[in-house]
Amino acid sequence: MNQPAEHQRSSPLSGPASATLRQTETWVFDLDNTLYPASTNLFGQIDLRMRDFIARSLNLGLEDARTLQKTYFHTYGTTLRGLMEHHAVDAHAFLDYVHDIDIDALSPSPALDTALTRLSGRKLIFTNASTDHARRVMKRLGVEHHFDSIFDIADADFEPKPVPAVYARLVERHRIDPKTSVMVEDIARNLEPAAALGMTTVWVRTDSEWGSQGNDGAHVHHVVDDLAAWLGALSDGVADAAPC
Ligand SMILES: [Mg+2]
Repeated sequence: MNQPAEHQRSSPLSGPASATLRQTETWVFDLDNTLYPASTNLFGQIDLRMRDFIARSLNLGLEDARTLQKTYFHTYGTTLRGLMEHHAVDAHAFLDYVHDIDIDALSPSPALDTALTRLSGRKLIFTNASTDHARRVMKRLGVEHHFDSIFDIADADFEPKPVPAVYARLVERHRIDPKTSVMVEDIARNLEPAAALGMTTVWVRTDSEWGSQGNDGAHVHHVVDDLAAWLGALSDGVADAAPC
């Protein structure tokens, strides 16, 4: 995995960068693998249900369904987009099916709850998943009450991150001033349009090759491993409490 250039690292979290972050007016958080660790692997369940949905709805064997799923994902950015383009699949039926997962693997996060309580500024969710899924995950984590709004894949007219027009729509709909906003996300490429708009970006580091692509680019301003710890250190104004 590429390592970001030293000057792009967030830690030690001190000086002007830290002070600026504490003045953030709007925090835009991705959901999956950002608010909880990727090691939880909820996506592993969603991934299998996408394959099964394709097999059932297109009457394909599991192997062929898998191949089609990955082809659409890499061509269109989401499997759903490809299914909509080529098969007129009902997006809401797809989203309901693939997010019908067991979230017991996800642990409540009192640490994130505390960190978000102490973090000043409006908080929004910006996800390529559905609002129902986002609410379920946030409820399980115990952090739902911190977020003013969810901007989901339907709000994005089923265009996924990192399509730049989606970010423009988010900013317009929620009256976000990019210059006083921060976007937090585990897929490094998804931070590029945010940075282009003038937002400060935080990459939640992942071992995933897909998530890491482009993490050494200038659009990644801060890198964190433990989001709750980093946000807590930011609120404390602690200089070096969040090694990354
Ligand atoms: Mg994510």
